[in-house]
Amino acid sequence: MNETKAYSAASATSPLASTTISRRETTERDVQIEILFCGICHSDLHTVRDEWSSVMATTYPCVPGHEIVGRVTGIGSAVTKFKPGDLVGVGCLVDSDHTCSQCSDGLEQFCHNATFTYNSPDKHLGGVTYGGYSESIVVDESFVLRVPTTLDLAGAAPLLCAGITTYSPMRHWGVTAGKKVGVVGIGGLGHMGVKFARAFGAHVVVFTTSPSKKDDAFRLGAHEVVISTNADKMEQHAGTFDFILDTIAAEHDLNAYINLLARDGNLTLVGAPEQPLPVAGFGLLFGRRSLSGSLIGGIAETQEMLDFCGEHGITADVEVIPIQRINEAYERMLRSDVKYRFSIDMSSLKAE
Ligand SMILES: [Zn+2]
Ligand SMILES: [Zn+2]
Repeated sequence: MNETKAYSAASATSPLASTTISRRETTERDVQIEILFCGICHSDLHTVRDEWSSVMATTYPCVPGHEIVGRVTGIGSAVTKFKPGDLVGVGCLVDSDHTCSQCSDGLEQFCHNATFTYNSPDKHLGGVTYGGYSESIVVDESFVLRVPTTLDLAGAAPLLCAGITTYSPMRHWGVTAGKKVGVVGIGGLGHMGVKFARAFGAHVVVFTTSPSKKDDAFRLGAHEVVISTNADKMEQHAGTFDFILDTIAAEHDLNAYINLLARDGNLTLVGAPEQPLPVAGFGLLFGRRSLSGSLIGGIAETQEMLDFCGEHGITADVEVIPIQRINEAYERMLRSDVKYRFSIDMSSLKAE
């Protein structure tokens, strides 16, 4: 085993602090990666603070991080896709059973035996997996992604979760040129949704409660911005959207957005509000509208997304921080005080 520096939380109420963890020796199918940047996702904070204990309780110590970009430093004897020096990414998944129908359909994120990048049973070492707030990671090559060398690496890291989370439902629901697409909320997820919808050629409308975000929404690629508390403005768009991506994790009125959908239009949730939200059946019946959820994306689609980002020059808007500012970054993320994602420069960990 190899010792590697990391930042971990010792309990739900402890701040993240410097520590040392073990990584397995590379097996024949493994890729060893030096981590260069790791994005900070809301899931990191929820897991560190054990806020999802009813669904997946956190095992401590917890090393979060699933928006990983790094460089290959070693490969197992059977690895064919990568060589030392390659720029690579690792997202929310590091393994699955490779055999079930979800896996054979390329939808590993729904595999019942998927291994998530952190806080998931570790098949190799026992205990749980440790994520990207560390110097290095060892991952089966089939879960390693190729990162286009033209992209800014700090901004590329969030593509591995925020990027694929917004790209996948847009592809699934057929967002293309000429479609009218709404993006609700303009944070880590929403700002990526705007960039992708624009790059797909759609007419993009951003919904926000904050008039102060209007200029930024246009800069990110929106054609129109609607302040969602303005009932008249909302009414003007009734029945016109082909697809709406809802990125809000707080309580809000879904019916207001269902009413904006055209016939066969779809509203997809990628945020997970804590409490169930009421939905008026008639809103769905008239116009055969649908309400869906979506969870990251499979490995093949994640590679497709990264390649698309390479062709179109798409990265997340990031504020780069050293790992030593991680606890402050969590507090700021809770206040939405970041445009629009933190990306940790992991070279800062060498100073620990
Ligand atoms: Zn995430
Ligand atoms: Zn499977």
